[in-house]
Amino acid sequence: MQAASGRDAPDRCPGAVQVHAAADGGLARVRLPGGRLSVAALAVLRGAALDLGDPALELTSRGNIQVRALRPGAEVELAARLSAAGLLPSDTHERVRNIIASPLSGRDGLGELDVRPVVAAYDAGLCADASLADLPGRFLVTVDDGRGDVTPLGGDVGLHGDRLVLAGTVMPAGAGTVTPAGAADLLLRATRAFLAERAEQGGTAWRLTELTDGRARVAARLATSYATDAGQYSGPDRADVGQYNGFDRADVGQYDGRRGPVAGWAPQLDGQAALTVVVPLGLFTQAQSAALVEAAPGEIIVTPWRTVVVPDVPVAQAGPVETLLTAAGLVTDPASPWAGVTACAGRPGCAKALADVRADARAAVEAGTVPRDLPVHWVGCERRCGAPKGRHVEMLATADGYQVVS
Ligand code: SF4
Repeated sequence: MQAASGRDAPDRCPGAVQVHAAADGGLARVRLPGGRLSVAALAVLRGAALDLGDPALELTSRGNIQVRALRPGAEVELAARLSAAGLLPSDTHERVRNIIASPLSGRDGLGELDVRPVVAAYDAGLCADASLADLPGRFLVTVDDGRGDVTPLGGDVGLHGDRLVLAGTVMPAGAGTVTPAGAADLLLRATRAFLAERAEQGGTAWRLTELTDGRARVAARLATSYATDAGQYSGPDRADVGQYNGFDRADVGQYDGRRGPVAGWAPQLDGQAALTVVVPLGLFTQAQSAALVEAAPGEIIVTPWRTVVVPDVPVAQAGPVETLLTAAGLVTDPASPWAGVTACAGRPGCAKALADVRADARAAVEAGTVPRDLPVHWVGCERRCGAPKGRHVEMLATADGYQVVS
C-alpha cells in the first residue's frame, strides 16, 4: 500500500544531540514533556546558553526550549550538561518526546483529572520502548485534562479528559473511556499502532493525518478493549477553587481555550497561586531566565503559547514574585500589546528569512500598530514556522515588505 502523503526524506527536526545547522550556528531543541522544567534545570540551560551559544533561550510552539548559535562542537558539552540536569533521559528518543499537556492541570481544578502522572508515565514508557525511537520528530502527543486547551493543537494521539484523541479529534464515548491509571498505556498503544499503520502504508508519513484513513485504521488497531471506567479527578473538591485565599476570583486570569492560561494570577486548589507570564517574542533573555530561577519556588511550565507558568507561589510571595518578573521584562498584564504576538526566528538565524521579523514585530508593538483582536504571528518566509493554531493575523515577509494575511 502507498502512503497517502509520503515524505521523500526523513524529518530533520532538531534535537539536543542531533542539532540543526542554522545560519547562526547549531540549533539544539530540548524537549520538555508537559512543558515542565525544574528551576535547577532552567539554571543549567541558562548557563549553557551563555557559555556555548546565544545567551537567549527560545521557546517553541510545542512548549520546548531551544539553544541557538552553538559554536562548532559545542553540542557535546551541551549534551553532557543536559544529561547531568536530567533533561536527556534517552539519547535515542530525545527527538520524539513531544508531549504537550494542560499547563495548570492538577493545580487550578478546572480539568477532569490531573494529567501530570499520565505525562510522566507516557514519557517513561516511550523512552523504555526501543521501537518508539523510530517515531518521526513531528509526531505530537497532547494530554488535555478535559478543559480543551491542548486538544485543539492537533496531536496525533492524545487524551481529552476520559477520552482518546486521534489526529486532533476526540473519539466518541462509544469507543470507550480511559481511566487515569490506564491512560498512559493506551496512549503508548495508540503510538505503536500509528507506527504499525505507517509501516504498512510505506513508512514515510510524519503525522497521522498523512495516512490513508489514519484515524480509523489506528482506532481499529486499538479495537481490543480498553478500560471503561470514567476518569476520576484525584485532587481536592473543585468547588474550593473559587475560595482562594488572597485573590478575588474575578481578578484572576481567565482561561482562553485556544491560547491557554491568560497572563496573570490563577488560584490553586492548595491555597497557593500560579502566575502566567508572556515572554515577549518567545525569547528568554539572561535577565529573564535569572529572574525566573530566583522567583519560581520549584519549577516553571513552558506552554505552547510562548507563555510560562510559575506555579506553587505562596500568597505572601505573590507581590515580590510578580515585581521581580516584570522588572526583567516578562509580562503579567493580559491587556499588554505583547500578549498574542509571536514570531519565527527570521534573520539572522534563518537563511530562508526575508526580514528580521523579531525586530520588526518589536518595533510594531512599541509603536502600538499591532492588531489587537487576534493573535499576530510574524514570519520571514512562506514556511510559516511556529504559526499558532486557530485564527490569527499573519505578517508575512516578502521581497516587497510585509503582506498581512488574516
Ligand atoms: S518561517 Fe521561514 S524565515 Fe521563519 S524560521 Fe521558518 S524558514 Fe526561517
